[in-house]
Amino acid sequence: MPQSADQIKDHVSLFKEPEYQEMFARKREQFECPHPPERVAEVEQWMKSWDYREKNLSREALTVNPAKACQPLGAVFCAAGFEGMLSFIHGSQGCTAYFRSHLSRHFKEPSSAVSSNMTEDAAVFGGLNNMLDGLQNAHQLYKPKAIAVGTTCMAEVIGDDLQAFIAKAKQQGSVPEDFDVPYAHTPSFIGSHVTGYDNMLEGILKHYWEGATREPGETLNIIPGFDGFCVGNIRELKRMMGLMGVEATIMCDPSDVYDMPSDGTFTMYSGGTPIEAVKGGVNAKATISLQEYCSKKSLTLAESSGQEVAAFNYPLGVAATDEFLMKVSAFTGKPIPAQLELERGRLIDAMTDSMAYVHGKTFTVFGDPDFCIGVTRFLLELGAEPVHILSSNGSKAWAKKMKAIVTASPYGKRAQVWPGNDLWHLRSFLHTEPTDLMIGSSYGKYLERDCGVPLIRLSFPIFDRHHHHRFPIFGYQGGLQMLVRILDKVFDGLDAQTNIAGENDMSFDLTR
Ligand code: SF4
Repeated sequence: MPQSADQIKDHVSLFKEPEYQEMFARKREQFECPHPPERVAEVEQWMKSWDYREKNLSREALTVNPAKACQPLGAVFCAAGFEGMLSFIHGSQGCTAYFRSHLSRHFKEPSSAVSSNMTEDAAVFGGLNNMLDGLQNAHQLYKPKAIAVGTTCMAEVIGDDLQAFIAKAKQQGSVPEDFDVPYAHTPSFIGSHVTGYDNMLEGILKHYWEGATREPGETLNIIPGFDGFCVGNIRELKRMMGLMGVEATIMCDPSDVYDMPSDGTFTMYSGGTPIEAVKGGVNAKATISLQEYCSKKSLTLAESSGQEVAAFNYPLGVAATDEFLMKVSAFTGKPIPAQLELERGRLIDAMTDSMAYVHGKTFTVFGDPDFCIGVTRFLLELGAEPVHILSSNGSKAWAKKMKAIVTASPYGKRAQVWPGNDLWHLRSFLHTEPTDLMIGSSYGKYLERDCGVPLIRLSFPIFDRHHHHRFPIFGYQGGLQMLVRILDKVFDGLDAQTNIAGENDMSFDLTR
């Protein structure tokens, strides 16, 4: 045997052992019925052609590797941002395991969520009993302050009515009558995790705001939106608001629960927006969203309660951060402090120092709609040229906005905006019109290998690199962090191209 209890091998070396190599060869011959290698190579080449790209773009009834997740994942993320709130997913156990593992793999932290575990009988007769038992178990076992209920496809297809089920559960004593159970229907066959975030946030705000008498105040609510970098970004946001002396409630703050210290004990709930602050949020002067496409319904709710509202698109870099801070200043009357002006100047200095290495470089950007807008704006500020901007969960309205941004810049003339396309489309784009670099999630690593376009991991999910989410990419500091990540990739590429001694290493420079 290639390994034993005394000598455990990682799969990287284990699968190179002769036993495994022989097994793989046998499997290929006996079960895979492979075509001759020449035919495989021929088809492989064709799949990189414009001809294949046209065929790929004409497919209608099939999505391959979309850069998005389903609604309930966004709902679980949203509920994690509130004090003592437990996610309860009404539907399949397997879906809930996927949401937990997806979030855990990205944040490298436990991600708690329970499921009503619907199976075949519930699919036929409805999931009421699962809800009654599940709420009771969750309440007694995990002692949450509130339970936020979302749904999977299964519950939505059979049409379970959450409002009626929760009322029944309270009537029957599964949870006390006055226990908080906000909810949102999160059907996965519409929208994406971004929609699920918005639906759940709207559900939570409705639960705590409806029926309250609004007493207009001077505070702000800030909705950060679904964000794989929430740990670093929300801390940066709080720091900036602190420097301005602005009293703001972060509506959904999972920065602590996704960044727990190791102290020998497991804590299920940590941090989160305090429930009293959520209740008080109805009195805010204004609600600002940092991600327009994550908060359409929530902002409509805030507006209907009498608040002013404003939405941004993942503000990072110079102009987008300026706009955000000026809006905060306009709402609160607080000036932008000298410290933030200093940080702005330092970012511009860093961008100028490194301009020669980024200016004119071509980029592919893929991810959520707001992320794509924020990153593209920053690239244009750097004089970089976005060529493919793809958002699987981007709408036609998003594409129109994106096109207006790129056409307003001399560096955006070559940009092509791809709403609703997937990463298999992106493969065709990169084979036919490659770019120097690509910004996106870990799922881009297959494109990097296949198309030879270096990937900078800056969105959700990042599974194969650790801890980047602890550093901000919002604001001026975020722009700096993003600039460094881009430059490191550029310099690593330059070094790799110039490292053959005596051949090309006259450019293997110590100083870049
Ligand atoms: S798309 Fe539907 S079936 Fe798939 S994980 Fe999401 S809720 Fe579950």
